[in-house]
Amino acid sequence: DHGLSEADPEVRAIINKEKERQFKSLELIASENFTSRAVMEAVGSCLTNKYSEGLPGKRYYGGNEYIDELEILCQKRALAAFHLDENKWGVNVQPLSGSPANFEVYTAILNPHDRIMGLDLPHGGHLSHGFMTPKRRVSGTSIYFESMPYRLDESTGLVDYDMLEKTATLFRPKLIICGASAYPRDFDYPRMRKIADAVGAFLMMDMAHISGLVAASVVADPFEYCDIVTTTTHKSLRGPRGGMIFFKKDPVLGVDLESAINNAVFPGLQGGPHNHTIGGLAVCLQHAQSPEFKAYQNQVVSNCRALARRLVELGYTLVSGGSDNHLVLVDLRPLGIDGARVEKILDMASITLNKNSVPGDKSALVPGGIRIGSPAMTTRGFTEKEFTAIAEFIHEGVQITIEAKGLASGSKVQEFLKFVSSPDFPLTDKVSN
Ligand code: PLP
Repeated sequence: DHGLSEADPEVRAIINKEKERQFKSLELIASENFTSRAVMEAVGSCLTNKYSEGLPGKRYYGGNEYIDELEILCQKRALAAFHLDENKWGVNVQPLSGSPANFEVYTAILNPHDRIMGLDLPHGGHLSHGFMTPKRRVSGTSIYFESMPYRLDESTGLVDYDMLEKTATLFRPKLIICGASAYPRDFDYPRMRKIADAVGAFLMMDMAHISGLVAASVVADPFEYCDIVTTTTHKSLRGPRGGMIFFKKDPVLGVDLESAINNAVFPGLQGGPHNHTIGGLAVCLQHAQSPEFKAYQNQVVSNCRALARRLVELGYTLVSGGSDNHLVLVDLRPLGIDGARVEKILDMASITLNKNSVPGDKSALVPGGIRIGSPAMTTRGFTEKEFTAIAEFIHEGVQITIEAKGLASGSKVQEFLKFVSSPDFPLTDKVSN
């Protein structure tokens, strides 16, 4: 039995290149992070060999005594990490990732074509919350359920709760979803609870982006108000790539969420759990209860504020004017440029972030903004000082994008310009994903 270098040098070489890219670039994608060696060791372990369909104590295969022990440990740590009472909340740690976790919830509590309301994708929501365009039902969620998105108030960049309330009163959704992929502020959970109660809807929070911040209590706690909370495990939580679903143990709207959700995960939509991921997740959730983790999450927020502050000083427009969490959304339209070009230019200088639509965008293909996140570089030890410098690097990249032909001066800018004259430039409007 050989290690990877001997068994498959081609794949080893690709992994090495990716590792180098990850460590040589400024990683500012808000949904990414660097997980620990301990987590990676668990994910790369023999746990990947085992089939364990079912739940602890109720498996369809033999030989699961240690897998049962692991999954029970992972569940206990998940509830403890989010400060939940085991008598009131349960958790399923088997979802393969965030999108399957969400679809599993919908399958559990809705019938086909029941109505849902989530934040619109161009306003910061996630595909899996029901995205559709006037021409096409894009997400499976919008194919199998009837989706009516709510949106931001474009003048404030905040969720338009009044409009959500009015629309919900008419549309009468069975499920309202809080949570976003690109929203720099806390959700108003009490308000959303009130709206859900008024129309008889379940209230779910998809805390994928902010679950690390929730565990460390540095943002508002969705568990106080929501019936169901889903999350990915690989973003601010800094675990392996996976998902979790938390549910209230008492019936909600006459539905036993525990059995409905567990059955939707298996046998509804999944087969064998990824036990190596559950192992890595258990490691992550133990760490999420430590004082160092809390300090890390405080630093994530503080770094993001430093970044936002410097960007505002440099004259940038931020959606909602700033940030309460780990990301900022910069509206580049006042500068006459788009996020696609800036993303490309910054990529050439090893600054990795993503183009993002901003409220009021005409084209989803060439969005008017960029999304910048602080979790990954905070893991690498960056503080406010480095994030202030990052704002300045981004500013240089933006200036270069604007001036494209090298009108900007200064030696660092000249270095940047060498990249700009690469064959990849000038850019087309084509968006690559
Ligand atoms: N939910 C939110 C809010 C997200 O931002 C994402 C991913 O970015 C997901 C769900 C989907 O997670 P996954 O990519 O693991 O399916």
